Amino acid sequence: MRVNPNSASRASKGKGMLMVAVKKSANIEKLQQEKEHLLAEIERLRATLKTEVDPDADEGDPDLVEREKIIALISTMEHRLEAIDYALRHAQEGRYGICERCGEPIDPARLEALPEATLCIRCKTILERQPRPASTAEEDRLL
Ligand SMILES: [Zn+2]
Repeated sequence: MRVNPNSASRASKGKGMLMVAVKKSANIEKLQQEKEHLLAEIERLRATLKTEVDPDADEGDPDLVEREKIIALISTMEHRLEAIDYALRHAQEGRYGICERCGEPIDPARLEALPEATLCIRCKTILERQPRPASTAEEDRLL
């Protein structure tokens, strides 16, 4: 089997979808740029963590606070990266801009502001009202 799913979905797009497709690919491009940016930032921050380790320092506390901030920042970026990767996989399957919960198109304004969104605002709101697992609450506290 040497069928490329991307070319298959591209070929199946009708002329009427052109405007939407252009908009979508702009958003997907934005996601890819954001992903590269995040990867570079994470790498830079990790390098900072490595170079700033000074086992001989007596007053290690201010550094420690700084390091913890950087670690928290890396973790925030990694979560964003996961969301972007998820949305990109979504896009590869030809479902970009389609809510994964209800299957309705996501508001283009929402995608403009949050290109990695895979839920429409309605479903997002519903999911947010549900009780959160402890790990999610912990993340919120850090942010
Ligand atoms: Zn939805």
